[in-house]
Amino acid sequence: MFKKLHIKLTAYMGVVLIIFMLFIATGIYNFTKFVFEDGTKKLMQSEAIRIYTYNDSFFPEHILKDRDVLFNLGPKLAIMGSERLEASYVIYNEKFERVHEKKSESEIADAIAALAVDSFCTKTDSYATKKVDGINYRIYTKYFDNSNGPGIVQVFQNTINEEIIWSFLKMVLFLVGSTGMLILLFISYIFTGKSLKPVKETWKRQKEFIADASHELRTPLTVIQTNLDVVLSDDEGTVEENEMWLDNAYSETRVMAKLIDQLLTLAKADTNDEKLDLSEISLTEILENICANMDIIAKNKNIDFELINKEEILIKGDYDKIRRMIVILIDNAIKYTESGKVTVKLYTEKNKKVLTVEDTGIGISKYDMDRIFDRFYRADKARHREGGTGLGLSIAKWIADIHKFSLTVDSVVDEGTKFTLRM
Ligand code: ADP
Repeated sequence: MFKKLHIKLTAYMGVVLIIFMLFIATGIYNFTKFVFEDGTKKLMQSEAIRIYTYNDSFFPEHILKDRDVLFNLGPKLAIMGSERLEASYVIYNEKFERVHEKKSESEIADAIAALAVDSFCTKTDSYATKKVDGINYRIYTKYFDNSNGPGIVQVFQNTINEEIIWSFLKMVLFLVGSTGMLILLFISYIFTGKSLKPVKETWKRQKEFIADASHELRTPLTVIQTNLDVVLSDDEGTVEENEMWLDNAYSETRVMAKLIDQLLTLAKADTNDEKLDLSEISLTEILENICANMDIIAKNKNIDFELINKEEILIKGDYDKIRRMIVILIDNAIKYTESGKVTVKLYTEKNKKVLTVEDTGIGISKYDMDRIFDRFYRADKARHREGGTGLGLSIAKWIADIHKFSLTVDSVVDEGTKFTLRM
């Protein structure tokens, strides 16, 4: 499922990249072409002006006489300026006769004469491209009217070299664009994979959670069923005679109720639905209240129970949740201690409020210590099934986290465990 999603996301990214690259490449191409065309047009225009100005100069006869000399200078027209434009030109006089024309180019001049006629009639300039004998020409037609009368200068040049450059530019843009896109696609594949990782993790955890939850719910259900089966098969037995089986079934319903309550809490935690009802609360008061009840449970197990709290400590928190977290920690301490002592201590240290719950119980191994905050994790499932769901500490950790408190554990197997909550 995630592989498909990964590929799909990368493909979407690819489409966006292709559109973006096409946009950029056509932008670069058209802009370069526009700048070039515009520059060339201006250059041709200025050359046309120079030509007719020169023709109109002090010794126009000189030019007319030596026009072959002028043409023989080669296709470079800008003989009077510093710019050099590779182009040819034709001049028409007031009778619309060609007075300047390079013989070898008369065929081209004929082909573009219609443009000259247009300009002559409309007395305007024009700029156009035209195909002559399969070759594209750029033509600037300039109408002028000077002391010799009206006339036309047509400056033209073929675009063969440019076309090579344009197709080269297209190829470069295509190659650079497609290589860049492949690289970006690869990078986006990696990044999409990375961003999918937490989603994958959550999905995996959710699946495990559902599987574990169903498994955990099935166990008490089976116990209830088995016990009730025994009661039902005993047709003659009284309620008193079947009390043991009924008690078993009843205590399992309590396990189920606790489990369902914890599952609901964690489900809400996952969807971030649970809002904190923050207020200034007295930890001292909460502890005294909890410890009064816990003391009785500890006494029943012959465990010493001590609360050390020398000063009133106030914190900002959600009363019910903080209470629930402390109950989980103290309940565990008593549950996992066979003999010895459970000490609850509340004090201030370096501007931090600290609560420790310490026991002399079975302890937690280094391997288990990394996992005890995981959902459904129980260090020794066989040893302490009684009432344990493996969800208590994950709830306690979640409560600490949403309050931005730190909950840590230190433990030595068979010596004891100490949970520390820093607020
Ligand atoms: P459970 O319902 O099983 O107590 P918890 O999430 O509260 O679930 O605890 C997870 C596991 O961490 C327990 O099953 C137990 O193995 C271990 N654990 C928790 N508290 C203690 C403690 N004070 N001493 C020893 N082991 C503990």
